[in-house]
Amino acid sequence: MSKTITLVKGDGVGPELAVQIKRLLTESGAKIDFEEVEAGEDAFKKFNDPLPKETIDSIKRNKIALKAPITTPIGSGYRSVNVQIRKLFDLYANLRPALYMEGVPTPIPNVNLIIVRENTEDLYIGQEEQPTPDKAISYKVITRSATERIARYAFKYAGDHKRKKVTVVHKANILKFTDGMFLKISKEIGAKEYPDIQCEDRIVDNMAMQLVQKPQIYDMLLCPNLYGDILSDLCAGLIGGLGIAPSANIGVDHAMFEAVHGSAPKYKGLNKVNPTAFILSSCLMLKHIGEPSIAEKIELAVKQVIKEGKRVTYDLVRGKGEPSTTSQMVDEIMNKFHSLK
Ligand code: NAD
Repeated sequence: MSKTITLVKGDGVGPELAVQIKRLLTESGAKIDFEEVEAGEDAFKKFNDPLPKETIDSIKRNKIALKAPITTPIGSGYRSVNVQIRKLFDLYANLRPALYMEGVPTPIPNVNLIIVRENTEDLYIGQEEQPTPDKAISYKVITRSATERIARYAFKYAGDHKRKKVTVVHKANILKFTDGMFLKISKEIGAKEYPDIQCEDRIVDNMAMQLVQKPQIYDMLLCPNLYGDILSDLCAGLIGGLGIAPSANIGVDHAMFEAVHGSAPKYKGLNKVNPTAFILSSCLMLKHIGEPSIAEKIELAVKQVIKEGKRVTYDLVRGKGEPSTTSQMVDEIMNKFHSLK
């Protein structure tokens, strides 16, 4: 029986990526049907609401969403639709694998990291005030319950995926209450409930430097929301850029899958950006809904296309090769997929 998933088309380069992902997944034989909905700038122009009720209802009903990128206005305007969806459906765990793929131009090969980012609190609760024109305040919230569940998610993931070590990232030397609590609870859960997984911690600034110098010595990072957001982009840089970094937002009943990158507005409509991040996010989704063999076959096809380097987008072109368009790269991935046993 087919599973219906919500495909959120997004804005900027989102709609063109959504077209490609639908084409690829349909041709892959995955047993899924798509319910296409809108969110972001285009939805705001049409419905005066960047996250229309129809979109929320669709995710509520289908429980699984594949979401193309969405623009968030900077400094003013509506609040982040991405953050709203994560909050509405309590998608508390943000999983961001950063895995090296052969053939990708990158300063450091063999990076193999999983970042688990707490997705519901920290500075992202968006509680800000400006008591005077010269003073602005933002509240950083860390709770025991949210920390316990993200720590359990990270250690369980480590056990399930044969990972050996979890590094808790924090700034507890300065933020003794908030990050201090995140660190203490995470380490307690690790020691008591997952004694076979090694647990260590790093202060976030040192972590950033070490990730650039020797990422290979790390395995999984467990981060509060803000540090996870920043470090996962850094790790995307280590594996060759935002064009290839996927992510999953997991809750108890619902889950949403999306590329780490944003709506890249300057490339809107140009059929230019790399589809890999969104394709690999859809593979995380396929594994989550019980279609692992198709997911693994798509992942293998993507890896082979990138390794060959003949039909890849501008960000992956090596030497003097001509860049392919988004749709040409997807064509090549589909050809490769069909040629695999
Ligand atoms: P961005 O990720 O959209 O783009 C930054 C740069 O990265 C691009 O200019 C491009 O050079 C490169 N890039 C991004 N995606 C690529 C791809 N698929 N292939 C090749 N190169 C790619 O980040 P930004 O410019 O800071 O943000 C643009 C908008 O996206 C903002 O409104 C931001 O809030 C939003 N955003 C949304 C999400 C999301 O929907 N989950 C995530 C991050 C940012």
